[in-house]
Amino acid sequence: MGAKVKLDIIDPASEEIVARIAEDDAGAVDAAVKKARAAFEGGWRSASVETRQRALRDAAKAIGDHVEELATLETLNTGILLKDARARYAGRTARNFEFFAEYIGQTAGRVFDQNPAYITSVRREPVGVAGLIAPWNLPLALGSMKIAAAIAFGNTCVIKPSEQAPLAVIRLGEILAEILPEGVVQVINGRGHVTGAALVAHPGVAAISFTGGAETGRRIAAAAGDGMKPVTMELGGKSANIIFESADFERALDAALLGVFANNGQQCLAGSRILVQASIADRFIEAFAARTRAIRIGHPHDPATELGPVASAVQRDKVLGAYAEAIEEGARPLAGGKRAPGFERGYYVEPIAVEAPSNALKACQEEIFGPFATIIRFDTEEDAYSIANGTRYGLVSYVWTRDLAQSMRAQERLESGVVWINTPVTRELRAPFGGVKQSGIGAEGGAACEALYTREKTITIPRSDFPIEKIGAV
Ligand code: NAD
Repeated sequence: MGAKVKLDIIDPASEEIVARIAEDDAGAVDAAVKKARAAFEGGWRSASVETRQRALRDAAKAIGDHVEELATLETLNTGILLKDARARYAGRTARNFEFFAEYIGQTAGRVFDQNPAYITSVRREPVGVAGLIAPWNLPLALGSMKIAAAIAFGNTCVIKPSEQAPLAVIRLGEILAEILPEGVVQVINGRGHVTGAALVAHPGVAAISFTGGAETGRRIAAAAGDGMKPVTMELGGKSANIIFESADFERALDAALLGVFANNGQQCLAGSRILVQASIADRFIEAFAARTRAIRIGHPHDPATELGPVASAVQRDKVLGAYAEAIEEGARPLAGGKRAPGFERGYYVEPIAVEAPSNALKACQEEIFGPFATIIRFDTEEDAYSIANGTRYGLVSYVWTRDLAQSMRAQERLESGVVWINTPVTRELRAPFGGVKQSGIGAEGGAACEALYTREKTITIPRSDFPIEKIGAV
């Protein structure tokens, strides 16, 4: 056996290597899946709802006891602001376990008892071993959603966090291992084409939940299709944030800034295309550009910081390259476009805002996944829908209007899995979150997760013996 490949984990704030992680090859993936299967057969599949609820609640409590440690690790390899990692994302991680503990207490099968001759019942069963693959932008919050949902419904799981930012998920796996029976949750590490691909292709993996880029999603969905495995694909976005002239201007402005620059601009649901009605566009653009230029860039540990580093050198170059290209294509520069001054180390870039002459610009069509806002003017409501829907993605749409009828029309016309009206990001775990078009297949949320992590079985029993036609009888 050759030596294991080691992967460097880099702190985006200092560019230093902070850990080296051994990559799990196909053999190690096989061992993890077999162990997960043994844990499934060995009791987790038939554990009572109360047992699973207790385990999930214990997990939530343990995460609560380790918030500081988990948040610090999360920040160390992502650049996420520590205050957000603590309050938002570690909190959300615990909440994911609590949520599914509550949810499974209310699940039930179905009974069709209309026929006088027989009764048919439909029960939901766990699928077996779930293969979970997560991205680097919100490793804990997104990874824990998958783990909590998978195990709540009686499955065991093997999760592969991003090779770029696995530290907090690895620690979460250790914390969970102290609470759950052995093998119920396992974390494996490595690059997508090695460890991830082996997990997806493994015949012992019964369902795949993936969050990441659209290109990767297509590859994984194809491989999963080969094995007839159900999938959830939570992919990228190029979400429109439509600001009508009837909007509450100040609230829309605050939310537009947050919508595109929160989490260092690296969010699938970022409102990265800001569509502003022409009558208010000059005023909005001026205010947005001034606020963008005033955003406080700093170390993720500094509580005053509003924008930390992007997650890697690759991301930094992608953001700055997209800016240069946008300007070349005729975009009007409004803010940013350079590496942030005053930082000798770290992947810090100034937040960018440009006005795009048209939605056809590459910056309006490609997901940049960084602190990069494109602003587009529109004249009529119809124009707004046509621009908003004029992308291959369809994750989220944001709408700002005080006109009730307009908000009703907007929610019908927008081609996205989620529409947020007069609110920035507002995640309701009970409701599905997922995209349409190239933003994905399926969703995450209460019933949406139940659909992926369980399968229905139909059972029919006659009420009494009935005559069975005798064939071949003499
Ligand atoms: P990515 O697609 O590069 O990687 C995601 C994960 O897939 C990583 O763990 C990676 O190792 C793995 N992977 C890569 N190739 C694989 C393969 N062939 N087989 C199996 N696994 C493979 O995405 P990223 O750069 O880590 O994350 C950013 C992307 O994630 C953005 O496009 C963003 O919009 C998207 N995202 C979507 C959501 C959502 O809920 N819709 C949430 C967060 C991020």
